Amino acid sequence: MDETQRRAYLEAMDISLWQPRFSSPLPMPSMSTVMPVSAVPKVVEIHQTIEIKETNPAPEPIIAPVIEIAPPVIAAPNWETLIARVNACRACELGALRTKTVFGSGKRDAALMLIGEAPGAEEDQTGEPFVGRAGKLLTAIVKAMGLEREQIYIANVVKCRPPDNRNPNANEIAACVNYLREQVALIQPRMMLALGTVAGQSLLNTTETVGALRGRWFTFGETQIPLRVTYHPAYLLRSPNQKAKVWNDLVAVMERMNTPSKN
Ligand code: SF4
Repeated sequence: MDETQRRAYLEAMDISLWQPRFSSPLPMPSMSTVMPVSAVPKVVEIHQTIEIKETNPAPEPIIAPVIEIAPPVIAAPNWETLIARVNACRACELGALRTKTVFGSGKRDAALMLIGEAPGAEEDQTGEPFVGRAGKLLTAIVKAMGLEREQIYIANVVKCRPPDNRNPNANEIAACVNYLREQVALIQPRMMLALGTVAGQSLLNTTETVGALRGRWFTFGETQIPLRVTYHPAYLLRSPNQKAKVWNDLVAVMERMNTPSKN
């Protein structure tokens, strides 16, 4: 990826006002690996130079109710049986409403796994996660990290679309979350990034808002996979002034991805 492309991706995230304070161009990230730490713009620089509109930020998404976490996964099946189970699932009311299940997509041994909350209308039609406007923004976010979508794995906590794009409720999350746990067990990512309140709360069994969860490191599961929480792309479309915070979260993930001793 050359500098022109990288700037285009940052502009797609609406952080085009950022100007490096260095006299020489930034080093180029590799297409096959995560951007080296040395190439990552420092958070402090971004804070100092990004123009953030503080007026009228949209409210954070409605907080999901307290979630009853499903029992731990006993055994991780192979991909084919897991996909077949999801496709046949009617464990919650969403199963009768869906057009297609949205299992997930990407590299099956990806180092980085991104997790959203639930499919929307376009995902329900295509069976693919994060398509439409939020999906395009997510693609820009991934590219800004120096990666392609095919290099990571993207999934949702809930595999079927809630009606009217509402948040999945506690029963639906409890019924579905073990599929995600089994995906994580198969992928064994080095790092996880939860997108939005529902994903953060579901993975961390908390009622804290995404605003409270972001900016901190957590771990997920018995293997203690490092996990970070940031805003959902759909929320960024409503509140573009929050994109600089997301970029700071991505920088933290990229730095840790390039620091194996911290994993
Ligand atoms: Fe099954 Fe999950 Fe779909 Fe509910 S949302 S029917 S638990 S796959």
